[in-house]
Amino acid sequence: MIQFENVSKHYPGGHEALTDLSLEIRHGELLVLAGHSGAGKSTLLKLIAALEAPTAGRVLVNGLDVGRMRKSQIPYLRRSLGLVMQEHRLLMDRNVFDNVMLPLVIAGDAPADAGKRVRVALEKVGLAKFETAMPITLSGGEQQRVAIARAIVNRPSILIADEPTAHLDPAYAREIAALFRSFHAAGVTLILATHDDTLYSPYGARRVELAHGKLLS
Ligand code: ADP
Ligand code: ADP
Repeated sequence: MIQFENVSKHYPGGHEALTDLSLEIRHGELLVLAGHSGAGKSTLLKLIAALEAPTAGRVLVNGLDVGRMRKSQIPYLRRSLGLVMQEHRLLMDRNVFDNVMLPLVIAGDAPADAGKRVRVALEKVGLAKFETAMPITLSGGEQQRVAIARAIVNRPSILIADEPTAHLDPAYAREIAALFRSFHAAGVTLILATHDDTLYSPYGARRVELAHGKLLS
């Protein structure tokens, strides 16, 4: 369902983040991306979401060449993807409900059942009681769960997360990892960059390691 075909990525002025990378991610897979800081993990995830375009090669998501899409096709892609990216922080001047509603609003006309979907997403992450809370009043683990609710509110078939437990203490990290595993168990294709693959490797994850923009294993 996701294919990288000889993909390279040069950032303007920077060096090469990915070099001639080929990788296939199957439907329903749990893929853990490991590798040192700067190895190219975030770049790989951004290419799937069309947040960056490859310099060479192709990235196919459900058959769609996401590096060469028209701008008008991007919302269509985003609806099938849930993103928990490091730079997609919560909006601190809006409450939990409005933060989770955001992708439905961005996708164009919010569906008639948008409010219900937001509540279902908040229930799934255990935050139903917090919909009117402002993010600043929540713990780090709770804020991360709001970000996860925002990522799943579109009921995506693919969930992508970049170091989702990096700044959490171990108890919160285990809780968040269990939440991600539950989505995977429900059939979602899950792709995570993490420094702590022990949170996923006992649960059937495929581990792929990047070093300096290339696959090691
Ligand atoms: P990781 O997620 O494994 O830490 P990244 O994909 O963030 O790796 O980065 C890979 C390489 O690309 C690094 O050398 C980084 O400095 C560079 N890089 C990442 N984003 C940009 C950018 N927007 N502009 C220039 N260079 C970048
Ligand atoms: P950027 O301007 O960083 O490239 P986008 O244009 O993709 O980001 O989206 C703007 C904001 O909308 C993001 O910062 C993020 O909070 C939110 N967003 C967009 N798409 C999604 C998604 N699929 N899941 C969760 N949040 C999203």
